[in-house]
Amino acid sequence: MKNKLYFEDPSLKNWTTSVIDISEVDGVYHVKLEDSAFYPEGGGQPSDFGTIDGIKIIDLIEDHDEVIHVLKEKPTNTQVNCEIDWERRIDHMQHHSGQHLLSATIIELFDIPTVSFHLGKETVTIDIDTPSLSNEQLIHIERSVYEKILANIEVKTYFVNKAELHALQLRKLPKVEDNIRIVDILHTDVSACCGTHVKQTGEIGLIKLIKTEKVRQTTRLHFKCGYRALEEIQKTSKTVTSINQLFNSHTEMLIDKVEQSINELKEAQKEIEKMKETIFDSISNELLLNASNDLIIKSFKEESVKDLQLLAKSIQAKKPSLLAFSTEKENKLLLINQLKNDVHCGELIKNLLKQVEGKGGGGAQQAQATFETSTQLNEAVNSLKSMFHSQVNA
Ligand SMILES: [Zn+2]
Repeated sequence: MKNKLYFEDPSLKNWTTSVIDISEVDGVYHVKLEDSAFYPEGGGQPSDFGTIDGIKIIDLIEDHDEVIHVLKEKPTNTQVNCEIDWERRIDHMQHHSGQHLLSATIIELFDIPTVSFHLGKETVTIDIDTPSLSNEQLIHIERSVYEKILANIEVKTYFVNKAELHALQLRKLPKVEDNIRIVDILHTDVSACCGTHVKQTGEIGLIKLIKTEKVRQTTRLHFKCGYRALEEIQKTSKTVTSINQLFNSHTEMLIDKVEQSINELKEAQKEIEKMKETIFDSISNELLLNASNDLIIKSFKEESVKDLQLLAKSIQAKKPSLLAFSTEKENKLLLINQLKNDVHCGELIKNLLKQVEGKGGGGAQQAQATFETSTQLNEAVNSLKSMFHSQVNA
């Protein structure tokens, strides 16, 4: 292959070229072209997608400075039409150039170098050599990168040899020794890089810093550029608008409104707890009054297991008993033994589950069983009653 067209013209979307070699490897075809603008993976940038004569490229491999196009079908023509998946490529260019600006800006403002770059389908991140960044620093960085985008600075790319390299002040040093490609954002950033970049920084459009994460001793900074940044802002804006409508608020007031609602909710929960205590106090009185011995079996419809535990607590304070509470709300059976006898709640539940299908278990003082249906729950309650009766009568 004579030319890697993506070096000369990163805006090239389609072209015609000659097939110079095809070989079949493990059921797929390795195709070499005279010219190719398909970018293979490198320098943190994933490979392009695209087609050759309408046949989808499934992989791009770089082999000894040559790009090998992997296809499922064999192209039949010697002259082929190539087409790049442009949506994917422009996204990569916006993020890769955005990353150069971002890394250069973080050095310029805070002298913190970038240690790695990841450009994925869902997330784009750089890891920077600092344990943390403040909110103020993030706002400062975002604005400064945006100013460089607005300035529409020219992005130049060229090759240098080892001798010429020394005259350049590089942010990122090359991994290769010769024929080194430089990406030069005028007066802003000079880096050794093999990736595809926009021609003017204005094409990045927008940068949005999303969040930071601490990764060992570095900070992982998530960001989005171009269309992805726009979509992020649209998504966030839609969510905020919906929340504003729910709270009958506007964005400036929203945090206060949400905080106020959370506090009101907490207060209401406290009130409910107090009311429940009063209700359970009277239910426990009634249950104890009607109980002929230390055993109380009672079925409930609307109460949760948590409620029944509160009720048990109220009974315990007055007269410790052996409690068997069931609730149709959750199809659950709760056994609590507050007596100092040898009744083991867990063992009782285990025996019960041999008769009625369900799940459960527990210890000596407390055990629980859960059933699929209320019919099974009632069956279990009836079995339990007969178990107790046979014990009492024994
Ligand atoms: Zn780069």
